[in-house]
Amino acid sequence: MKLLDPQPSTKAPAELFTGDAWWNVIYAGEQPSRARLNIVRFAPGARTHWHSHVLGQTLHVVAGTALIGTRDGVVIETHAGETVTCPPHEEHWHGATPEQFMEHLALWETDGGDDPETTWLEPVTDEQYGGARSNSR
Ligand code: MN
Repeated sequence: MKLLDPQPSTKAPAELFTGDAWWNVIYAGEQPSRARLNIVRFAPGARTHWHSHVLGQTLHVVAGTALIGTRDGVVIETHAGETVTCPPHEEHWHGATPEQFMEHLALWETDGGDDPETTWLEPVTDEQYGGARSNSR
């Protein structure tokens, strides 16, 4: 067992996120592990661009309310203590509400091959970000 060195906070790049967000790598497994765990902090209004994960992703909201959108136009409103899982290759985005900071854990895996673990796409428009919200399971 070992205590891991804390990693510096990294500003999310403007090519991948709208608004201000920061992440810390909590765990990046070395082979044969393929696990990835980050904590991500979003300023009000900040969100990722559209993207998908080769083996899916699980998001656990630590603070605030997360908005998580998919191509069907549904924006799932997820609160602190709740967890959302996205299947492999499903295009989605995640971010804070316009009013408050949000913090989530993001868990995903590499596929161990040549496919990128995350495929990044275009920015989320204000219209998509402001779409009708659902909090049903
Ligand atoms: Mn994601």
